[in-house]
Amino acid sequence: MTVKHLSAAAFAALGFAVAVPATAQADELVLYCSVQEEWCRAMSEAFQRETGINVLMTRRSSGETYAQIAAEAAQPRGDVWWGGTGDPHLQAAQEGLTAEYVSPMLGELQDWAVRQAETSGNRTVGIYAGGLGFGYNSELVTEDPPACWADLLDPRFEDDVQVANPNSSGTSYTMLATMVQLMGEDEAFAYLAQLHDNISQYTQSGSAPIRAAATGETAIGIVFMHDAVAQTVQGAPIVAVAPCEGTGYEVGSMSIIADAPNPDAARTFYDWALTPAAQEIGAANNSFQIPSNLNAATPEAAPRLEDVNLIDYNFALYGSSEERTRLLQRWDAEIGSLA
Ligand code: PLP
Repeated sequence: MTVKHLSAAAFAALGFAVAVPATAQADELVLYCSVQEEWCRAMSEAFQRETGINVLMTRRSSGETYAQIAAEAAQPRGDVWWGGTGDPHLQAAQEGLTAEYVSPMLGELQDWAVRQAETSGNRTVGIYAGGLGFGYNSELVTEDPPACWADLLDPRFEDDVQVANPNSSGTSYTMLATMVQLMGEDEAFAYLAQLHDNISQYTQSGSAPIRAAATGETAIGIVFMHDAVAQTVQGAPIVAVAPCEGTGYEVGSMSIIADAPNPDAARTFYDWALTPAAQEIGAANNSFQIPSNLNAATPEAAPRLEDVNLIDYNFALYGSSEERTRLLQRWDAEIGSLA
């Protein structure tokens, strides 16, 4: 029996606090979703089907969702922020934009997911993980394919690399923080300034560059490796690369918004989203991250963290309000201003 097919009553009998709708508002959940649209929709529909709680979902990139929640702080409109990179979730936690909640599901989660909860004072939790890298179009790059971050500076890739803007995109902020941790801050900004010569476009969404590579609009997209694999699995000539110098990774996260209008529905969604069945919805919708529930099946195509030369990403520092704000300001001044 899977949770996926349970009625709301049976779901409640398993120990989940399903909000029984007493008023029109009680059976509604406002979900801010920061993974790709297809997975956001599948999650919303499955939750709605299983609990009867009507989901109003909006999809925005991680940095944009953080900014929206900050802008709405005086009168919060969202209940749960599900998905997106962990750093802006940690920033929201530090700023009190999200609420403390300890889910009974915590004991079923990977260590990195629990650490995310501990770092935030239980205001966020890890729901998936994935390593940063890039993907190239093997029909456009037929010789000497790039294997390292340094290779992306090659003049033969002029105007043929895309990455997102780190203000809107959590993927791109992960890259910025990764470079700072790999190289040192000044060296990282020098690298990004040099890379700028090869960048044709800073996209709004983190995964847009690999969709552009899949169609041949660009040769290389800097993205999470699982986003590159998603294109390969769908038949695009994309090769995912784990950069030779080492790389960072994300702990995709979930938070309940402080003073959410529907707190019971928010907690019901939160517990449900940590179940194996809910986490397996990703793989069925072209998403190949590592799920945080130890009992959820890891998709066969998912790049394994242990196969990648990962840095010891300092989530507490790079997810802090001061550091994220400061690095984005420096990026605007030194890199964004070149665009
Ligand atoms: N989509 C997928 C599949 C992701 O893994 C992530 C990262 O958490 C995102 C989207 C986040 O996108 P963005 O970089 O636009 O914030």
